Amino acid sequence: MEKSTERLFGDHFLTSLTIDERLLVSRVRALCRRTLGPEAAAVAREDVFAWNTFRTLAREGIIATAFPKEYGGTDSRQVLRIRIIEEIGRVCSTAASMITGTDLSSRAIVAGATQALKTELLPRLCTGEIQSAFALTEPGAGSDVRGLEMLVRRVGDSYVVNGRKKFITRATTADWFVVVGRLADDHSKFIALLVHKDAPGLTISPEVGKLGWFGVPISSLQFDDVAAPATHRLGEEGEGFNLAQDALLRARIGHAGMALGRAIGAIEIASAYVTERNVFGKTLGEQQGVQWMLADMATQIEASRALLALTAEKYDRGDADVAIFASMAKQHSTDLCMKVVTDTLQLTGGRGYLQDFPLERFFRDAKLNQIGEGASEVHKTVIGRDLVRRARTAERNPCLHEGLLTEY
Ligand SMILES: Cc1cc2nc3c(=O)[nH]c(=O)nc-3n(C[C@H](O)[C@H](O)[C@H](O)COP(=O)(O)OP(=O)(O)OC[C@H]3O[C@@H](n4cnc5c(N)ncnc54)[C@H](O)[C@@H]3O)c2cc1C
Repeated sequence: MEKSTERLFGDHFLTSLTIDERLLVSRVRALCRRTLGPEAAAVAREDVFAWNTFRTLAREGIIATAFPKEYGGTDSRQVLRIRIIEEIGRVCSTAASMITGTDLSSRAIVAGATQALKTELLPRLCTGEIQSAFALTEPGAGSDVRGLEMLVRRVGDSYVVNGRKKFITRATTADWFVVVGRLADDHSKFIALLVHKDAPGLTISPEVGKLGWFGVPISSLQFDDVAAPATHRLGEEGEGFNLAQDALLRARIGHAGMALGRAIGAIEIASAYVTERNVFGKTLGEQQGVQWMLADMATQIEASRALLALTAEKYDRGDADVAIFASMAKQHSTDLCMKVVTDTLQLTGGRGYLQDFPLERFFRDAKLNQIGEGASEVHKTVIGRDLVRRARTAERNPCLHEGLLTEY
């Protein structure tokens, strides 16, 4: 039987893209079909940096989508980038995480570096000639970022950095680290700095084993009196926290796209299985219980895609409430992805559990999206707190009487 090119999940979101943007999505699809998909299992077999994948993404101009045009990038809109990340997340988390990781590690350089540093570094980051990593998390500060203990002291024309960073992706391949700490003489102020990998006093630990996201290893960093020139400060003193949040916001939107892509990939795989597999005299796909499972998953994925598309539009417009929408999109899509890969693995039975079958990898990769770039619980807290704050002054539901509700 001839294979159709019609996809299980529609292209309706592409209608808001320009012709050029759609062409880029088509190129990414072709790359997924030709290279990233077929090679994904081999790439994720060992947790060593996937240089070939990274170089392919750089060569194809996908890394450059994160950077401004004036430095060799394409300044791509988020409405386009979520489609690219979804396409890649559908087959290869390693590759997708290289795009979200580039957002995370380069955004503060784009937003806060001096003109001279941007001119020196950004064109080379665009082409993948060099890499950066984002060093925020510490042993005592993960979800609660304000608990950072890294101290940064101004000494003449330099800053001197002391402290530890943990879970730093691409620490062993990055040339530069975006490091966030607090000022030694005013602990209320956060500061972001660029530190070179060879700076004396910086120790990068061996790579640390983990459950999934193979191909993008993590390490810890130890800073003992590491000096960085004052010209390597990102933004002003006191702006470090906001620069980190700005980078996380962008990467969070990418995490949502990656999770949705993986969820879509998981349904594609399970749907193919249930149409082939016969049990109790008919195919699995003809069992109503299975159809209902697939229906729930597909409906929620389309709802989550719509929420993410709205969030990306808000990001591109610079809407004030984009951070809340990014929290909603990230929390919803990453929790949904975990559920979808769990249920699709169940639907594929023992085969789903095999290392040879892609869902085993999807299952392991899904977990990190719920933890990194703000755990789901943290996002729920952010969303709930915002709702309660706004409820104090928001228009009342017309069904209510005037006056205090306690007077009812
Ligand atoms: C593979 C990997 C790559 C990473 N890459 C980077 C990187 O490149 N750069 C970097 O800086 N960091 C990185 N991180 C760190 C990551 O951002 C943190 O792991 C994450 O922010 C959570 O912090 P934590 O692990 O310290 O968890 P904790 O802060 O200890 O939280 C543990 C759990 O508690 C729950 N929780 C937390 N707060 C609340 C709350 N208020 N209410 C209810 N429940 C709550 C959540 O379920 C959370 O998962 C990476 C982590 C991993 C595992």
